[in-house]
Amino acid sequence: PFFSVADIRRTFLDFFAQRGHTVVPSSPLVPGNDPTLMFTNSGMVQFKDVFLGTDRRPYVRAASVQACLRAGGKHNDLENVGYTARHHTFFEMLGNWSFGDYFKRESLKWAWELLTEVYKLPAERLWATVYIDDDEAYDVWTKEIGLPPERVVRIGDNKGGKYQSDNFWMMADTGPCGPCSEIFYDHGPEVPGGPPGSPDADGDRYIEIWNNVFMQFDMQPDGSVRPLPAPCVDTGMGLERLAAILQGVHSNYEIDLFRTLIAAAARETGASDRDSPSLRVIADHIRATAFLVADGVIPSNEGRGYVQRRIIRRAIRHGYKLGRTAPFFHKLVPDLVALMGEAYPNLAAQAPRVMEVLRAEEERFYETLAHGMEILDVALAGGQTVLPGEVAFKLHDTYGFPLDLTHDVCRERGVGVDVAGFEAAMERQKAQARAAGKFKMERVLDYAGPANAFVGYDELQAAAKVV
Ligand code: ATP
Ligand code: MG
Ligand code: MG
Ligand code: MG
Repeated sequence: PFFSVADIRRTFLDFFAQRGHTVVPSSPLVPGNDPTLMFTNSGMVQFKDVFLGTDRRPYVRAASVQACLRAGGKHNDLENVGYTARHHTFFEMLGNWSFGDYFKRESLKWAWELLTEVYKLPAERLWATVYIDDDEAYDVWTKEIGLPPERVVRIGDNKGGKYQSDNFWMMADTGPCGPCSEIFYDHGPEVPGGPPGSPDADGDRYIEIWNNVFMQFDMQPDGSVRPLPAPCVDTGMGLERLAAILQGVHSNYEIDLFRTLIAAAARETGASDRDSPSLRVIADHIRATAFLVADGVIPSNEGRGYVQRRIIRRAIRHGYKLGRTAPFFHKLVPDLVALMGEAYPNLAAQAPRVMEVLRAEEERFYETLAHGMEILDVALAGGQTVLPGEVAFKLHDTYGFPLDLTHDVCRERGVGVDVAGFEAAMERQKAQARAAGKFKMERVLDYAGPANAFVGYDELQAAAKVV
């Protein structure tokens, strides 16, 4: 059966409401009062303190559809967008939780029931993974649910260290964590990629759709774990990935919502090739940046605001690549609101402000973008395989090209960036500014103007490092 994105959301929440779960609204993309986390990267974020036992709720079972952003910190998919069929920066996560109530058995059985009996996914296309020594979850899959053992894969310390496995989920470097069991869907042999645990598992054939995390520990800064007050369940399923399956397509970018957004991006950029990766990037980035503005994040040169600026500028650069030389990106906001405004009323309410913030950032970057691209072209005209760090720094310092944007352009051309050289150039400028004295430094900042404002190395580091 065909399920629209709206059908999928409603069906999920109804299923868990019928099983005693309280339906909770999506929380903002900026987590309240949590320095360990840059953005809400999963549905459990608003329940972090409930897991830790320092907050209580009037319910022990909850379900939600959570707006998530993975563009910084521990879970960062920015570099995957435009390259895989399954990653977004902004996406919606369907989730259900038990706070010291049910555990592995109920969680996995309900997941199976919902997928195979309600959404009616063909059981023979589903695979599961469990944490290497989790015999309990393994037995639920093989003995109670009846999944053939060939399709239940134990995944362990494959990335070095006990807690670095794909099947040990962590919100951030510290905080709630635990072993998990993931459900995969096989899109079929026409799509490249191998089953979970195999060397080519990173393809788009076997796609991870649902993670069931058995929250049991609180990770400490020194890497040791403490048990949580009670074992909990935390699940997360990507709405767009499920939609792709239910709509019979192999890519998230071909679902109803993304087709419409990509058509809007083609309209505004004049692109004729609907399969252009740039259109996918623009469609992804309008969601991320519009929701960020709606949740109070405006472009700036540090922290969350700098991530916001980087995402917007990447989108603009892709528009430029498609031939745009004037602001276009903000014009996608009404299209987005038409698609998502009902589910996210705050986005609809903030739409005029969102457009204004995006338009202002576009105007600012268009002042320097073309010139910066020329400099880049000249620097690479001799067939270089690495862009000199000095050039990357000049692009950053004078033309407002965040380093990751320069990387993005170079990657398309199969060219690397001399990051050490970039950092050295940044250091040299800082030292010169220090030597010239504080007064002069302020004048430099002043003179450079907002588009070219100097971003200190520390800030850049901070933006890259905050989890
Ligand atoms: P992947 O291995 O595919 O990157 P993940 O293991 O990082 O996914 P989890 O942290 O387990 O993902 O999140 C739970 C679910 O959220 C995933 O099973 C997937 O369906 C969905 N999801 C995760 N990251 C993204 C993303 N960038 N875009 C869309 N959906 C995502
Ligand atoms: Mg991931
Ligand atoms: Mg994974
Ligand atoms: Mg996962």
